[in-house]
Amino acid sequence: MSEYQAPAKDMLFVIRDLAELSEINKLPGFEDATADLVEAVLEEAAQLAGEVIAPTNVLGDVQGTRVENGQVIVPREFTAVYRQFIEGGWGGIAQSAEIGGQGLPYLLGLAVEEMWQSANLSWSLCPLLSQGAARAIETHGTDALKSLVLEKMVAGEWTGTMNLTEPQAGSDLAAVRSQAVPDGDGYRVTGQKIFITWGDHDMTENVIHLVLARVSGAPEGVRGLSLFAVPKNQINGDGSVGEHNNVTVVSVEHKLGIHGSPTCVMAFEDARGYLIGELNKGLACMFTMMNHARLGVGLEGVAISERAYQLARDYAKERVQGRAPGHSGRVSIIHHPDVRRMLMSMKCQIEAMRSVAYVVGGHLDRAHHDPDDKRRAGQMARVDLLTPVVKGWCTETAQLLTSVGLQVHGGMGYVEETGAAQYFRDARITTIYEGTTSIQALDLVGRKILRDGGQACNELVSDIRETDKELAQSGDALSGIRSGLKEGCDALVTSVEWLLANHEADANIPGAVSFNLLMLMGTVVGGWQMARAALKASEYLASGAPDKDFYEAKIISACFYAEQIMPLAGAYQRAVESGSATTMSLSEDQF
Ligand SMILES: Cc1cc2nc3c(=O)[nH]c(=O)nc-3n(C[C@H](O)[C@H](O)[C@H](O)COP(=O)(O)OP(=O)(O)OC[C@H]3O[C@@H](n4cnc5c(N)ncnc54)[C@H](O)[C@@H]3O)c2cc1C
Repeated sequence: MSEYQAPAKDMLFVIRDLAELSEINKLPGFEDATADLVEAVLEEAAQLAGEVIAPTNVLGDVQGTRVENGQVIVPREFTAVYRQFIEGGWGGIAQSAEIGGQGLPYLLGLAVEEMWQSANLSWSLCPLLSQGAARAIETHGTDALKSLVLEKMVAGEWTGTMNLTEPQAGSDLAAVRSQAVPDGDGYRVTGQKIFITWGDHDMTENVIHLVLARVSGAPEGVRGLSLFAVPKNQINGDGSVGEHNNVTVVSVEHKLGIHGSPTCVMAFEDARGYLIGELNKGLACMFTMMNHARLGVGLEGVAISERAYQLARDYAKERVQGRAPGHSGRVSIIHHPDVRRMLMSMKCQIEAMRSVAYVVGGHLDRAHHDPDDKRRAGQMARVDLLTPVVKGWCTETAQLLTSVGLQVHGGMGYVEETGAAQYFRDARITTIYEGTTSIQALDLVGRKILRDGGQACNELVSDIRETDKELAQSGDALSGIRSGLKEGCDALVTSVEWLLANHEADANIPGAVSFNLLMLMGTVVGGWQMARAALKASEYLASGAPDKDFYEAKIISACFYAEQIMPLAGAYQRAVESGSATTMSLSEDQF
């Protein structure tokens, strides 16, 4: 089975040329983040991901995790990898320097995160959640809590989790029942949580759980939820680990994929907790973590598709089967046009997804670091608009691409031996956790489009039209890419106008059209980034820059996207404009 090689060249291209690193490098705090430094970090991370983390992927899948004497046991190789990871300071790469991180841009953090996720998705969830939890505590926690836990979390000595889900409260967090009662300067938290990723493990001596719970007398629904940091083991005044805190792991789930990631049922019984943020504002605080995690999970779609692509590409070069036009004798299957189609569709959509995810990461850096209030707000509006798209579209596309990767292997993809089946299974969770695709699509349509009357979307469209102008000046060479982008952008504009004009007439419209609108926006924004990539690649080729093969392939990839992926935008538009009537027509009994 071929091992993982991080696509560092493509990552650097996207960071430098599409997310515009040189602009981010000018922001206060990011003066050190030069292209040279970014390249060096990517190279080092690629080595760790490919040589150390990736070899643990299959054994994690096979061994899984188990509970022994009230403690989750993960494969021991995971612990060795984790040690190496934290010794290299990777856990805090994009965390601020004030709390012990390296203070590098989130954009660069995303690229290295993609590498960990490709290398071993199950294992990578542990640092992903820990970083999100640390961010929430840094943003909303009291100084006392920060000094108690943050340094250790950022260093990776302790990990973090996100405890939202309960049996009756999944997508609907209004139904959360866990309780918290005041106790001295803290709280006592009681309740049961399910599906908690890395809820327990034996890699570190403590785990800081971020738990949504209700204090008695709090309002019903999400307005009555507060957020608490609840350590697995109590923390002594001097910061050392104390007694057990009545946080127990009841069981781990047996599941379709990500076997190496313990998915835990957790019981909290009068466990000591620390309030994060204001009482009853817990969901807003949790959103700091969830938005970070949503981009991270969207990136998982990119990462697992990349791993599946590498495996399929290598197999297609080796597997000899049949004859192909222009070749004498039997050929490897990469010579068959339909296998080419599959590989091209994987390659171009992965590049598109990576570009969108990183570009949003770059907007997030600007939204936090730009000294100008107005510019910061504009950047944040773009992040808000595109976060559900990165999460929803990248993970939905990953379902298709990991399936195509399996298909390239023929029967060998269906058996476990090649690894293609594991990627297909592992990818399946990504559209479910961190808010299902339905929830992302409702967020996009409700909060991000209807609430501002389509303004953030209009600004996105005018940026896409700017790229159209650049394409117009580039002559015939990129004309196919230009017409594909125009077609897609027109479909997006028409669909959003249709939604704005019709949603008040029928309350089912937003929900009925939301998935297709999300996929439409992802498809178009992906094509837009591919068009920008083709423009940059043309510039490099014209200037005689090295890496000719890479830039030529980039343009071909953008052409394929324009020809074979962008036409989907028209289909999504048709589906949006069909509204909700047929979707809602059958009675319940007719199903
Ligand atoms: C492996 C794994 C790891 C997880 N990790 C964590 C974790 O670390 N922390 C944590 O708190 N949770 C975690 N979860 C829980 C996960 O976030 C939930 O499973 C998810 O939010 C969906 O909730 P649910 O399973 O209750 O499905 P439900 O909410 O019951 O949804 C079922 C179906 O109905 C749809 N649906 C529900 N409500 C609506 C609506 N209003 N509009 C349209 N469609 C709707 C959903 O999209 C879905 O298709 C994990 C789950 C799994 C399986």
